[in-house]
Amino acid sequence: MSAFTRISGVLHAESVSLVDVAAQFDTPCWVYSRVALEAALDEFQDQLIGFDALVCYAVKANSNLAVLDVLARRGAGFDIVSGGELRRVLAAGADPRRIVFSGVGKTAAEMELALTTGILCFNVESAAELERLNAVAGSLGKTAPISLRVNPDVDARTHPYISTGLKENKFGVAYEHARALYGRAASLPNLEISGIDCHIGSQLLDPAPFAEALDKILALVDQLATDGIVLRHIDLGGGLGIRYRDEEVPTVKAYLQPLLEKLKDRPLQVLLEPGRRLVGNAGLLLTRVEYLKPGEVRNFAIVDAAMNDLARPALYGSWHDIVAVVPRQETTAAWEIVGPVCESGDFLGHGRELALAAGDLLAILSAGAYGMVMSSNYNSRPRAAEVIVDGDRVHLARRRETADELYALERCLP
Ligand SMILES: *Cc1c(COP(=O)(O)O)cnc(C)c1O
Repeated sequence: MSAFTRISGVLHAESVSLVDVAAQFDTPCWVYSRVALEAALDEFQDQLIGFDALVCYAVKANSNLAVLDVLARRGAGFDIVSGGELRRVLAAGADPRRIVFSGVGKTAAEMELALTTGILCFNVESAAELERLNAVAGSLGKTAPISLRVNPDVDARTHPYISTGLKENKFGVAYEHARALYGRAASLPNLEISGIDCHIGSQLLDPAPFAEALDKILALVDQLATDGIVLRHIDLGGGLGIRYRDEEVPTVKAYLQPLLEKLKDRPLQVLLEPGRRLVGNAGLLLTRVEYLKPGEVRNFAIVDAAMNDLARPALYGSWHDIVAVVPRQETTAAWEIVGPVCESGDFLGHGRELALAAGDLLAILSAGAYGMVMSSNYNSRPRAAEVIVDGDRVHLARRRETADELYALERCLP
């Protein structure tokens, strides 16, 4: 569902004109839609009716408190990957019993914080982490609920940077070692085995690898039962893709039904960790054309957003649709949409057919996931504002940074 539609030709977020958003909050500006966030979560929840299930939103995709709050109020739990994300979800009012903690490098301090908070489960990613968690829990007189993130060694057929389920990746424990490691976990006094999890990659457009992974994980669940280790939950991770351009994207139903079919007769709580699918199409980056620089070989449109705001095109070569907020009738030309950062890699789109003039507003679509969270202050650019539209109202979800905030933590030599 898109909450971004044209009314009399002008692009709106729900009922709010993006011209008005730019006038009120300036550009560049991230714009999220509450309705789109809720609809994306509902698509999952609707499939899960009748199951003991919990959708744990993968916070790293977009960790703005307002986004977390909207999803939490709608029943989401959270998948976190750092102590910082734990503090964020608690600040947004999350229930600790709906938080799972993933990531390959959890520090002792992060474990302590999560243990004293009382989270639902630690998704443990290595033998060494298991030992550390046992020690940290012991020192606090607590028991840590755990699952092992098992690497099912399936090919998710996605971008190599975001494929995580193959043997050669740094994530999870090897499938062949998992059973022995569960045995080890069962022998450690301060751990309590709760479940098993896997996450095979991101922006997956084919449901088949998910089913392949689940079959392998369920085979392991059965082997563990013969070892006397009975699991309470299974966590299928995230990774379902979204449409950025013209991809054929599976519905949540087409993705989940084959998985739920395999799970329906098992007494296992089902956890999911979608990130991108919940927020990606629920956000855009609003930017203004500063200069047009037509040339013999290429035409450049220099906009006020840049790779420091939206890194995905420069980082992965990703495509984001770029559209005019108020389209012009003039004939179009092919424009390189670039930012002001001093890098030739600073582009947001290549060869986009648009009719442009300086001062025009552009919307860079499908930017709700891995957008603001990956932005930086490169070139001492303050990070953009974030707003969340709710019907005909606009809430400032994060104000624009100021230039002096960028060096407020720095000190010259005495
Ligand atoms: C990144 C990540 C997710 C979310 O991935 P999406 O592709 O955004 O759905 C879920 N679980 C884990 C462990 C992750 O690292």
